Amino acid sequence: MKKYVLPILMLAVFETIAVTVWLIKDNLFYLFNFSYIGCSIALGVFLFIRKYRHARRVVQLLVGLYMLVYLGLISGENMQIEGFWYYLFTGVFEAATIHYVVAKIFGPLLFGRGWCGYACWTAMVLDFLPYKTPKRPRKKLSWIRYITFAASFLFVAALFLARVGNLERIMFWAFIIGNVIYYAVGIALAFAFQDNRAFCKYVCPITVFLKPMSYFSLLRIKCDQEKCVSCGKCKRVCPMNVDVTDPSRKRANGTECILCMECVRNCPKGAL
Ligand code: SF4
Ligand code: SF4
Ligand code: SF4
Repeated sequence: MKKYVLPILMLAVFETIAVTVWLIKDNLFYLFNFSYIGCSIALGVFLFIRKYRHARRVVQLLVGLYMLVYLGLISGENMQIEGFWYYLFTGVFEAATIHYVVAKIFGPLLFGRGWCGYACWTAMVLDFLPYKTPKRPRKKLSWIRYITFAASFLFVAALFLARVGNLERIMFWAFIIGNVIYYAVGIALAFAFQDNRAFCKYVCPITVFLKPMSYFSLLRIKCDQEKCVSCGKCKRVCPMNVDVTDPSRKRANGTECILCMECVRNCPKGAL
């Protein structure tokens, strides 16, 4: 049973969040929402421990489709960064704001960029593309993320400053159009750079939140230097170019780790 501690722990963390937010907001939706996400993640970790090859993809589809289709399209909740700014400006601490606080701002202190590996609906599609490991060296283009971050903020700020009416409807369409743009740019970049995660590395505005917080992540892949034979396989299979053999927090691209476990699965010495 000892090996199943992690999925049980993940479930316990999400259930704690579910009950806390449910009681604070007096809204049963949050109990369902975080319980569903917690069960999906715990199932994925359980399947991973059972060595099921597609465990991570199962979680990506369960959580990603739930958020994209149910929360976004059916419930009309803009869960993209524009939705976060929108609810922040209106002073409403509701689904999108809570989602950002839990998954993308404070959650990474605990589980790093687990969101990017297991829940993001953009990466859920990008990960189906053919370049699972980057075929070319990383480019110095990560400054683009600050432009998209600023653009998302300015877009919503301009709507408020111009006192545009029917903002709820505009945010719904912004969610649909924004996702279409993300998928189009993400797929184009993946093929241009032969790297499924090029969009994550250079363009995604959410990484402006995710990267600094995940630097301090409690959950991280560690390398046992005694066992490591410096074969370099872990770096070759890593979709995010992380130098996982370096134990320090300052390791190359350390804040990019999405906890996909490809390095762990492929290490011939069980050093990770
Ligand atoms: S970097 Fe952005 S697009 Fe990529 S997985 Fe994370 S949140 Fe999704
Ligand atoms: S794959 Fe394992 S043994 Fe090889 S360099 Fe990485 S940690 Fe070391
Ligand atoms: S392969 Fe390892 S270091 Fe790279 S993103 Fe996945 S878990 Fe992190």
